Amino acid sequence: SPPLLEVRDLEKVYHLNSGFMQRLARQPALDLRAVDKVSFSVRAGETLGLIGESGCGKSTLARTVLRLHEPTAGSISFEGSDITKLPHREMTALRRRMQIIFQDPYASLNPRKSVEDIVGLPLSLHGIARRGEIRDRVVVMLESVGLKSAHLGRYPHQFSGGQRQRIGIARALILNPSFVVCDEPVSALDVSIQAQIIALLGSLKRELGLTYLFISHDIGVIGHVSDRIAVMYLGDIVEIGPSRDVLRSPKHPYTKALLSAVPQIDSGVKRDRVKLTGDLPSPLAPPPGCKFHTRCPFAIERCRHEVPALRDVGGGMKAACHLAGAS
Ligand code: SF4
Ligand code: MG
Repeated sequence: SPPLLEVRDLEKVYHLNSGFMQRLARQPALDLRAVDKVSFSVRAGETLGLIGESGCGKSTLARTVLRLHEPTAGSISFEGSDITKLPHREMTALRRRMQIIFQDPYASLNPRKSVEDIVGLPLSLHGIARRGEIRDRVVVMLESVGLKSAHLGRYPHQFSGGQRQRIGIARALILNPSFVVCDEPVSALDVSIQAQIIALLGSLKRELGLTYLFISHDIGVIGHVSDRIAVMYLGDIVEIGPSRDVLRSPKHPYTKALLSAVPQIDSGVKRDRVKLTGDLPSPLAPPPGCKFHTRCPFAIERCRHEVPALRDVGGGMKAACHLAGAS
């Protein structure tokens, strides 16, 4: 069967300094290539983990896939149809099937609305439940995320961080989506609460048959939740493959560096240790050739001018490195 989501050569470029005043002041035009021709697919029922340092384009990629941001180029196909240019109205209807859970539940919940209103709002916006039915559906949803009907009339500030994220999850799932972006859903939470929310997301996925694109900068979290892992660097996917293989035998030096930075996740596995040096270059002026060459301990002359393609390197893995695979 075709993948649930298929993204081809997706680009999101922000044109900075393109306003009238900036042109008048002769400020140079700047292109921020936040997502740079990215291709990947997500199969129904799997969790694709997306990892990379903050600012690498993970959130922009996810929001562009959902068309919360309009893509500059490329194509997105979802449940078998091309949604890249779907008119706004149809996109709004389709968004029932594609939802997002945000990093900071407090910032994403209206402080003046009760839980009943927050979780019930998508139902009334989409006109899919009558007034009298909304409360019942909200109660069922609250129970499935571990909250109670007694919480209906309470406001966001009356909940703990973990409970607020449960409210955010309930709001995202009440429309019965098939695809959910989890954008750093546990990064703002205490470590003890993180495990509970991750377990909840896992059981909801199984019960409701969900498919996740799970974003995190934390390789421990990504390793735990993902069936496959995609690694992003400066707007590119530089490595993608089955979770176990990416964690055990990463092919891209950047992935090796990410894994070297944390205590052994998987004890008994001997991995090359790669130390990441230097800062993340500005996405406004990415290095030519391989964008990672300024920080890569293995860089050769070729890396400075030739862009490595994301290509098969065996074992269902792909990597964008001149030196990866075939060795
Ligand atoms: Fe390092 Fe070169 Fe591979 Fe880029 S292409 S990751 S610079 S070895
Ligand atoms: Mg982000």
